[in-house]
Amino acid sequence: MKLIKAVVTLIRWTLKLILTGILLMLVAYFLASSNWLKADNKLALALNQGLVQVEAWLSKAGVLPKLAMTERKASQADTDDNQAQGARWPQNQARVYLELTDPKLKRACLVAMSAWNDTGAFKFVQTTDKDKAQIICRAISDSTNGAAGETETDLALPQKQLTHATVYLNKYYLFNPSYSYSWQRIINTAEHELGHAIGLRHTNEISVMQPTGSNYSIQQADVTKVRELYSR
Ligand SMILES: [Zn+2]
Repeated sequence: MKLIKAVVTLIRWTLKLILTGILLMLVAYFLASSNWLKADNKLALALNQGLVQVEAWLSKAGVLPKLAMTERKASQADTDDNQAQGARWPQNQARVYLELTDPKLKRACLVAMSAWNDTGAFKFVQTTDKDKAQIICRAISDSTNGAAGETETDLALPQKQLTHATVYLNKYYLFNPSYSYSWQRIINTAEHELGHAIGLRHTNEISVMQPTGSNYSIQQADVTKVRELYSR
């Protein structure tokens, strides 16, 4: 009985420590970002980012289900991004071949394509001819890369014209119960990767292009960026 009591006390204290840690992190976060609190949307962003950090921390501590980043290699992607900054297709339109046998992933891609199409800023056209496709969507199942989705783009320099893109959706994370991806977050991931495929880069704004990828669907800020990119 004494042992059980000791274990219960230990668990209680551990939980208290975790909660205190979370509170301290939140306070520290808001203090650090206090100059952001002037604008309302910045407050929302700071709140969201604080929560995302707490979520990531809890996930690491094993309290919450694990989270997969949309892309793991942030620094590498940034390097590529610098070279690819301003890269775009000749027009705001691209042919997509869905190399996807999984019906759920295929549907997620189609929903993501029509979500972009609905913005009027870019048009994805599905093609059944892989050779004529400019963008290919492919499924992978890779437990080692830590990314729920990845996009490779080829571009012609120096005019920085996109020539080909491959979107990879990682079933290992997207369909893994311990990562608990909702249907909406799977769609958000597809929208994020298609965003890369048309020249968008990561941003910390409230955007489908946040590095963590699946928190938001396409936002007005994303539509504005695509319009800017393709109005040049
Ligand atoms: Zn990304």
